[in-house]
Amino acid sequence: MTGCHAIAKPASSRCNLQCRYCFYLDKTQQPMMSDATLQAFIRQQIDAQPGDDVQFAWQGGEPTLCGLDFFRRVVTLQQRYAGEKRIYNAFQTNGVLLNDEWYQFFKEHNWLVGISLDGPAELHDAHRVSRSGNPTHHKVLRAIECLKKYGVEFNLLVVVNSLNSVQPQSLYRYLRGLGTPYLQFIPLLEMNDHHQPEEYSVSAKAWGEFLCGVFDVWVREDIGRVFVQLFDSTLGVWNGFASQVCSLSKTCGHAFALESNGDLYQCDRYVYPSYRLGNIHHATLKEMNDSAEAAAFGQYKQVSLAQECRTCAVLRLCNGDCPKHRDTRGKSALCEGYREFFEYTSPHMRVMRDLIRQRRSPMDIMAMLK
Ligand code: SF4
Ligand code: SF4
Repeated sequence: MTGCHAIAKPASSRCNLQCRYCFYLDKTQQPMMSDATLQAFIRQQIDAQPGDDVQFAWQGGEPTLCGLDFFRRVVTLQQRYAGEKRIYNAFQTNGVLLNDEWYQFFKEHNWLVGISLDGPAELHDAHRVSRSGNPTHHKVLRAIECLKKYGVEFNLLVVVNSLNSVQPQSLYRYLRGLGTPYLQFIPLLEMNDHHQPEEYSVSAKAWGEFLCGVFDVWVREDIGRVFVQLFDSTLGVWNGFASQVCSLSKTCGHAFALESNGDLYQCDRYVYPSYRLGNIHHATLKEMNDSAEAAAFGQYKQVSLAQECRTCAVLRLCNGDCPKHRDTRGKSALCEGYREFFEYTSPHMRVMRDLIRQRRSPMDIMAMLK
């Protein structure tokens, strides 16, 4: 039995912001998640996991729009159905609506909070504005200060776009000064109707230069101190572990998206009718997770690799990127950037791998590079 992960969207695509690059803007909204759907989801998500640990991920739209009582109910239901299993919750938010009650709740129940932040005010507010077009950066910073004050564990999710990608080192230094060691960089790549990247997307070249620029600082100053998901995951692959970044994993699958009405989709990037696996009121999550359709979606990433990827020197690190980023020939629109990053960092990764094999700390490379 293979476990699964489902990103739940209890507020559907509703959001209090109107980010200029949001792919949800044109979508039809579903109603908020009902109590019956919430109960079914929590019970099924727990039942679908073969191990003792069960992860829940709450996302949007903006999940705070469901109100805190909805999530108090989540905790009650999780306690009711958990049995001997351990429950973990991650909550992704733009941070704008958080208040003392939310912080107390996150702290009391040990939820991990992901805050979306694209950099200092001039970079963040260029895209992330309220529905009336007002800046939001100051509100996000206030949320970060409160998360720290209440001792809530949080990470920062940074959407790397055409603007902030050109300032990798100053952006990175800004982010690492905000009080959490956990950073995640997500490339923004949205295609227009002509299959060309939207102007706010990060180009392949800029993505590669951004990653290399950040890496240059990290490898000299911050190993073991700042955890950049892509860097740590890449070092893990060099040491024989699977990638922690789904777009760079060998296969997809078992990472579903749950709409507020109970519809289950293959992936958060594929919330389209043809990728709908079913509805949790008619089939269980476990049944859908074990289905041939889910398995085929998981394998598609590998079987559809472009010929150039199959002979690529960094294939084991890149795996052809997310299918959503691929063009009609099957190659990622970010290829050049990933290739530059993986080639540029290979000498450093090799040294860190060898240090680990010698039972030394990879942090020793920082002294070597001085
Ligand atoms: S389709 Fe893309 S985002 Fe979805 S699981 Fe596969 S690699 Fe990840
Ligand atoms: S770097 Fe480019 S060619 Fe190589 S595996 Fe990735 S997408 Fe394919």
